[in-house]
Amino acid sequence: MLYKTTLSLAHTSVILLSLISAISCFELHLPQKVSHIVDSLQYTCGQFLQKQQIFALYTKQNVSEIVNQNIKGIEENVLFQLLEERLLSESQHDYYAANSQNWPINLDQYSESFVIRITSEDEFIKYLIYKEAKALQISIWEQSVGFIDLKVDHDQLHQLLYNMESRILERTTRSVDSPVSEYEVQLMIGDLPQRVYETYPSTKVTSLQALGEFSTFQNLSNAFFEDFRTLETIYDWFEEIQAEFPKLVSINWIGQTYEGRDLKALHIRGKHSNNKTVVVTGGMHAREWISVSSACYAVHKLLQNYAEGHHKEAKYLDKLDFLFVPVLNPDGYEYSFNEDRLWRKNRQETYMPRCFGIDIDHSFDYHFVKSEDLPCGEEYSGESPFESIESEIWNNFLNRTKEEHKIYGYIDLHSYSQTVLYPYAYSCEILPRDEENLIELGFGIARAIRKSTGKKYRVLKACEDRDADLLPDLGGGTALDYMYHNRAYWAFQIKLRDSGNHGFLLPKKFIYPVGTEVYASIQYFCSFVLNLEG
Ligand SMILES: [Zn+2]
Repeated sequence: MLYKTTLSLAHTSVILLSLISAISCFELHLPQKVSHIVDSLQYTCGQFLQKQQIFALYTKQNVSEIVNQNIKGIEENVLFQLLEERLLSESQHDYYAANSQNWPINLDQYSESFVIRITSEDEFIKYLIYKEAKALQISIWEQSVGFIDLKVDHDQLHQLLYNMESRILERTTRSVDSPVSEYEVQLMIGDLPQRVYETYPSTKVTSLQALGEFSTFQNLSNAFFEDFRTLETIYDWFEEIQAEFPKLVSINWIGQTYEGRDLKALHIRGKHSNNKTVVVTGGMHAREWISVSSACYAVHKLLQNYAEGHHKEAKYLDKLDFLFVPVLNPDGYEYSFNEDRLWRKNRQETYMPRCFGIDIDHSFDYHFVKSEDLPCGEEYSGESPFESIESEIWNNFLNRTKEEHKIYGYIDLHSYSQTVLYPYAYSCEILPRDEENLIELGFGIARAIRKSTGKKYRVLKACEDRDADLLPDLGGGTALDYMYHNRAYWAFQIKLRDSGNHGFLLPKKFIYPVGTEVYASIQYFCSFVLNLEG
């Protein structure tokens, strides 16, 4: 596989003629959008593409001919898809059409980036991509068995592939035994600003009252689940749900974040005295908004079904308590609403000036391994366990409420990749207690999801998902391992939808279906641990 960096552009006069007419045709119809796209694409694809080619692509004239003739090498497909997606997008909700003053955040920060997937079954290749991506400070969106998704700009992609080819070549010349490894590059998201734009509520609503007046709690909740919501709106909804179900629901204060926000849990009390508690957390990673909406949706569904006299929910609340923490990372969540939709960590200061945030899910005190990432990196673990304020106050809360909450089950919601993960994350060499039952429960959860919406989720050991044996710092200090080892008998992490087409940027139409999947998981989980299955 050879990567060519110098490409020649050969135009025939016939093509040029058709392009000139194409250009005048567009300038009449869609000048603003096209010129904006051309500007951003010229930066992205600069050395490969001429303005005329982009116009030609837009008019669909000899598209494949023109592109194929002039662009050779590994990036051909990526560029082609990128152009196609940007130029032929027929979105209703178009960020170009909106005045930039009305943008929810500055969308220009994403205009040179796109998301690619590199697929390979080869462990060496995967290790290589990971290492090279880190060295180039590329944002790793997702990685699991067989693939890694990266947010890159054109220069980063170019450099990454160049470095990989050199490393592969070195390896092949050193050893005659190792065959040249294969990998594929595929474009997942081309028009990142547009995709980011589509995830924000269409009207800016900062509090629940701003949604309007509703005659019933049900109507209020219907409106609440129509869009992704700000922290304040979610906490307002906590108050409403407590007012609606005063005997069942109380709001627990866990502590205060670095930026002074409250970290709150909804405690749903059963009718028993044993205080066996099932804990559900969401929003540990700021940009994974679907985990937040789904945790809230599950609360709503549990209480609604109980109030309507459903048999299953009556049994759950006969035997169990629930503790829901939909937004475990309030500062990060707010930052993703107001500044950077793709923010992952919390927002506390680190030892490096201007590098903010610790990855909460690397910060727990069970097999904590300091990350290779420095404070500016997206996976920075902090220097020692519980340095992230959220993991620390969560641990303190569990200690001080030991009598009240005897934690039995734990489900940690993340996105994306549609995967149910069971312990351990830190190593595949250590078997979890009761592994057979964990696997059975994991597959049961995946089956319950499939029955609810038809979507397929994989079931994996968390260490395989993270490649912890190859990259040890990736599996250390997770909430999953810490909860499983120290607190909960059963523990899972579920990475919700999708499988990569939207990644973290699911539009609002996913709120109900993914919420339904999460609630189906919780139902199955409760039925299993209470022995109601079968
Ligand atoms: Zn996550």
